[in-house]
Amino acid sequence: MSDLAFKAAAAKELDAADELAGLRARFVLDDGVYLDGNSLGALPAAVPDQVADVVRRQWGELRIRSWDESGWWTAPERIGDRIAPLVGAAAGQIVVGDSTSVNVFKALVGAVRIAQDGAGDDAGGRDEILVDATTFPTDGYIARSAARLTGHTLRPVTPGEVPAALSERTAAVLLNHVDYRTGRLHDLPSLTAAVHAAGAVSVWDLCHSAGALPVGLDEHGVDLAVGCTYKYLNGGPGSPAYLYVRKGLQDRFDSPLPGWNSHAEPFGMRAEYEPARGALRGRVGTPDILSMLALEAALEVWDGVPVAAVRAKSLALTDFFLECVDAYVPEGRVESLTPVRHEERGSQVALRCSAIAGDVMKRLIERGIVGDHRRPDVLRFGFTPLYVGFADVERAARVLAEVLAEVA
Ligand SMILES: *Cc1c(COP(=O)(O)O)cnc(C)c1O
Repeated sequence: MSDLAFKAAAAKELDAADELAGLRARFVLDDGVYLDGNSLGALPAAVPDQVADVVRRQWGELRIRSWDESGWWTAPERIGDRIAPLVGAAAGQIVVGDSTSVNVFKALVGAVRIAQDGAGDDAGGRDEILVDATTFPTDGYIARSAARLTGHTLRPVTPGEVPAALSERTAAVLLNHVDYRTGRLHDLPSLTAAVHAAGAVSVWDLCHSAGALPVGLDEHGVDLAVGCTYKYLNGGPGSPAYLYVRKGLQDRFDSPLPGWNSHAEPFGMRAEYEPARGALRGRVGTPDILSMLALEAALEVWDGVPVAAVRAKSLALTDFFLECVDAYVPEGRVESLTPVRHEERGSQVALRCSAIAGDVMKRLIERGIVGDHRRPDVLRFGFTPLYVGFADVERAARVLAEVLAEVA
């Protein structure tokens, strides 16, 4: 059997044995291969009708009554509780709202304030914030501003350098669970433990892990976390992000954006600010209901889906993609930046592909294989286990080899 026939047969068997295969029907997709769900998740089929109901009935007919009768006011914490099991959190610790960038700000300044308040007389000593030097840029920009505002020094270090960089000077550490560029999964349990051993406060960005793999926020004692909902959670373009504040820290979480929605008595309209109890302390202003309720509808695709099964399939998909690329693409044309070891791999594969990566991705997209290009030379392929199958993976690798042969 040729490599091609052999891999195609293997894909068929893998798809036949895939317990999650039926979930694809919960999405609106076409005949192409969508490998960009790590940038914008596909549309869950239930969303359009539910959004139409929110607009026509809840807004159009009930109007202001919907804040109460349609559950608009409590949507941020209700949807937070819907996300909670996907990231290993008990209820009452997550609120949805604002962008990831804004939540990074709330979480990081909040973390610094917790560190200061915990340090007592010692507070002056904790004057550093560590930030992942390889981070998605927005986290780095926000961290720099948070450091300026709080009078701290920002130290960019790679996640691997964090244990050695921690000291009695460290107030807070902002890390990514999965590197957006390479797909490397960082060791959240051991890094969180190291941050705690140094007496500092941990903030994790889950943008590229939530919905693709188990996170275990409660189990690993993470202090604060943020994430977006439009990647593996399929919430739609610009859907609101979320903020997790561990139960034991909620009373000490002093938000730098204490809007009226986080007030203990928001409709008391009092001049004095008094923070609400619990996760809703992370709220700011009026929630963006249309996006938020689209997200809520989108989260229904997770009903009955165990995250462990999603992780197992994600690893099988990325393994199979790497095998097919290995079999089809001539030696030396691409180089995988994605770790080989499963413990270090998220749900994407990044292939370095010389200077022509942009042209290669353009041709792939023309043939229905949608990934993305990260400058200068990275081809990024995201594998969403809810709607990507093994035949898709085989086809993507095959078309990649064809395209590379053309642009040789
Ligand atoms: C996608 C992503 C963001 C996006 O931030 P927004 O404010 O939602 O635009 C932030 N951080 C990381 C690590 C991301 O992957």
